[in-house]
Amino acid sequence: MDYGMIGKIEKAKRYAEQRDRIHVEQLQVRFDGDHGPHTVSFNAGAWTCDCNFFLSRGVCSHTMALERILEGMLPAPAELAPH
Ligand SMILES: [Zn+2]
Repeated sequence: MDYGMIGKIEKAKRYAEQRDRIHVEQLQVRFDGDHGPHTVSFNAGAWTCDCNFFLSRGVCSHTMALERILEGMLPAPAELAPH
């Protein structure tokens, strides 16, 4: 492996531990829940999920699980306030 690539891999390892550098703006995933797959999206600070619980409550186990996984990389509420 060339020297340049080795340096980039080392940098990637450091970056991967610095979540405050990463700001999720858009995301779409297929979430294989216990009762089947769901499409979960994050856009402009808002979650959507196609499960029935989300439709009635605006939050669900799928969005909450992703919030945990993405902890530190989602915009804080203050960053989403209208300017
Ligand atoms: Zn859901």
